[in-house]
Amino acid sequence: MRILLVEDECDLGLSIKKSLEQSNYLVDFVMDGEEAWNYLETNSQQYTLAIFDWLLPSLSGIQLLQRLRSKGNTLPVLMLTAKDTMQDKIMGLDAGADDYLVKPFGMAELLARLRALQRRSPALNNQQMCYGDLTLDYNTYTVTWKKQVISLTAKEFQLLEYFMKHPGQILTRDQILDHLWTWDSETISNVVAAQVRLLRKKLAIYGADHWIETVYGLGYRFTSAKAQQ
Ligand code: CA
Repeated sequence: MRILLVEDECDLGLSIKKSLEQSNYLVDFVMDGEEAWNYLETNSQQYTLAIFDWLLPSLSGIQLLQRLRSKGNTLPVLMLTAKDTMQDKIMGLDAGADDYLVKPFGMAELLARLRALQRRSPALNNQQMCYGDLTLDYNTYTVTWKKQVISLTAKEFQLLEYFMKHPGQILTRDQILDHLWTWDSETISNVVAAQVRLLRKKLAIYGADHWIETVYGLGYRFTSAKAQQ
């Protein structure tokens, strides 16, 4: 799941990003309101949640929220701000925020609130994804195959999730790169191939490395988990 984090205090933003990544979220971290808007305009389908600070350069978190809602975009947004009066909270929620957390805050509380937002969102409340006997569980971040737990890293989990969402489709290297790595990642050209190799190696333990097929010159296709039933 991918989060857009908009926070102009660099150290705080980086520490939130790190904590979110440890909780298996992919995070695009931006420090400016207009830049955040560019991300939302070009990439909004990719985001599961967003976190907006209020006071930001060029466009405030409230303006960002109002602009987003005026376009009919219902992306769940949590306001994370030092503005702590009742009037501020009312203004944030009325502008379209789904939750409001005042700084200073505990990271554990932020994570719990994000989980709550995920549960409340109709588009996100399906906490499991199944494909044949393969089940991916978002509550525990585990994958099971015929009730055996397949132990995956966060990146392997995200890659398998992406494949499972697009069974039978050819996914190009660029599509996988865009989906799984944030724009500030220092990705090298063969990172996708390397990650697919690692995931296949894990799946091979269950005799399932052939689920991900290489389509030469095009990309990869996830096919066989269902056919094996
Ligand atoms: Ca700020």
